[in-house]
Amino acid sequence: PLTATDLIEEHRICVCVRKRPVNKKELAAKELDVITIPSKDVVMVHEPKQKVDLTRFLENQTFRFDYAFDDSSTNEMVYRFTARPLVETIFERGMATCFAYGQTGSGKTHTMGGDFSGKNQDCSKGIYALAARDVFLMLKKPNYKKLELQVYATFFEIYSGKASGVFDLLNRKAKLRVLEDGKQQVQVVGLQEREVRCTEDVLKLIEVGNSCRTSGQTSANAHSSRSHAVFQIILRRKGKMHGKFSLIDLAGNERGADTSSADRQTRLEGAEINKSLLALKVRGHASSRRAPTPPTHVFVRVDILIKACSVKWPVCTLNQECIRALGRNQAHTPFRASKLTQVLRDSFIGENSRTCMIATISPGMASCENTLNTLRYANRVK
Ligand code: ADP
Ligand code: MG
Repeated sequence: PLTATDLIEEHRICVCVRKRPVNKKELAAKELDVITIPSKDVVMVHEPKQKVDLTRFLENQTFRFDYAFDDSSTNEMVYRFTARPLVETIFERGMATCFAYGQTGSGKTHTMGGDFSGKNQDCSKGIYALAARDVFLMLKKPNYKKLELQVYATFFEIYSGKASGVFDLLNRKAKLRVLEDGKQQVQVVGLQEREVRCTEDVLKLIEVGNSCRTSGQTSANAHSSRSHAVFQIILRRKGKMHGKFSLIDLAGNERGADTSSADRQTRLEGAEINKSLLALKVRGHASSRRAPTPPTHVFVRVDILIKACSVKWPVCTLNQECIRALGRNQAHTPFRASKLTQVLRDSFIGENSRTCMIATISPGMASCENTLNTLRYANRVK
């Protein structure tokens, strides 16, 4: 019979893909949409304007994902299938992590933080706020009410630019030190943990943090392409940590023309996250006694894209890498290799830790090299 542990194991990592709509600028530039999401778990990257014929894609490269959201989906929908199921985890003394991963401009901040594009700065519909809303709803349930839990929030940024380090977005970007004690416990010294009593309190903190994040920047995207933003909801019981939800808006994963060491560092961090997630996945496999759910598929016409983007696509070694990783006994992962994985260490190694990843993709032909990169990485995690 299936136990609760089996269920948790089976759903340790959920990976989904979200396509953003073609924007005005792209329309003006006559950018072509090369992404089609014909069903809830299929993403197709195809020749522009070509009528999509499913049978043509079957013989091509196949990726697996849990959900694929097209450009008509709302944050609420994406949330419901990704972070929502993890809210329960932190009430059950677990650690939850939700990442947004993708190219700069593909919709990470829109998905996690909310809409900051126009004059309307609305953070109430981002996953940070939606998760907070459900935490407060859940607190009222009799089972959890009797635990007398307190809710806290932190919001910080990990930057790998010229001034690399960890910065507190709730305390005027104060630079923070990361310390590791002998017992492999990691502490971000001086990180402000604010008590929050309702969703409104959380919205205020998100606003403060967001304006702090982008202040002094010529463009929000120029900055966020190099920094990870981490928003955490922490449950405490009599002062002791009960559960923690880390919601992360990762640095852009594109390979810029810029080959400065800062840029390389950001990319390396991306690779580290992937390694950590991969290790997690491998553990999940090993201890899962139940057959996996039927695969879902993403079809990518790599041959057409190589032509379209005139990029040299590397020979796909993905499956081999996964198999190799599975064969090895990955008892430990080099968490210390990056600040981000170091800070999130406790979230990955806990008994009851669950992760979801939202890979965001841009629809345009000009982005397809990055889009394929994102899909390939996301697929590796799965
Ligand atoms: P990133 O954080 O990945 O760099 P953003 O979230 O800033 O990207 O998105 C880039 C632009 O596209 C923003 O103006 C944002 O409002 C818009 N955008 C992103 N995703 C969506 C979406 N799903 N629906 C509508 N607009 C979106
Ligand atoms: Mg962003």
